[in-house]
Amino acid sequence: ADSLTHEQLVAWLAAFRDSVHEHRDHLTELDAAIGDADHGTNLTRGMDAVMAVVAADDAPDTAAGLLKAVGMKLVSTVGGASGPLYGTFFLRAAGAAGDASTLDAGAVLGMLRAGVEGLAARGKAELGDKTMVDALAPAVEALADAVANGADLATGLRAAAEAAATGREATTGLEARKGRASYLGERSKGHTDPGAASATMLVEALADAVG
Ligand code: ADP
Ligand code: MG
Ligand code: MG
Repeated sequence: ADSLTHEQLVAWLAAFRDSVHEHRDHLTELDAAIGDADHGTNLTRGMDAVMAVVAADDAPDTAAGLLKAVGMKLVSTVGGASGPLYGTFFLRAAGAAGDASTLDAGAVLGMLRAGVEGLAARGKAELGDKTMVDALAPAVEALADAVANGADLATGLRAAAEAAATGREATTGLEARKGRASYLGERSKGHTDPGAASATMLVEALADAVG
């Protein structure tokens, strides 16, 4: 697998929808500990709305068009912090995709990097703030390293998924500095960040769709 096809792009979104459904209660339990117990329901609602758009007869047939529609749908259907953040991720990824018809490993890296940078800027979140950025930023760096070393896309995305999971695990010991969990201060320590957990699923879904 040296490039991401349109079918794989759709398969990525479907796999993420399936994953948030499968793990909905787990995501909500993580959010119950340090937030407001809605992360699982927020994302299942959002991804169901996204897949209705993706499955429609008039679904966009370019990568940029599809990713833009996904981002807009998440912003409009998810009424939590995660909606605008994931929405920004997809909108910025769409911008980076431009009018490319073939998304090779470098283009996929560029898309993911733009998406994560946009999300982090929107949330004013840095690495170590105990957010989705703690899973996503290491994933992008792992893919960048793999691409620089000549790995193919599937191998690079597998490394990215592993880095995301490592980043997710590292959030457990951190004190939250952004979002609702930050209201807890020290007491947020000892709990895995729900957004880092769902963001890992997003990267794993992409690796699964391509690999
Ligand atoms: P809400 O907190 O509004 O209920 P969700 O529960 O859907 O929204 O999402 C919570 C997740 O959003 C957190 O676990 C965290 O990963 C992420 N998050 C919250 N605020 C920020 C932020 N400013 N920057 C980055 N990520 C954030
Ligand atoms: Mg919440
Ligand atoms: Mg909420």
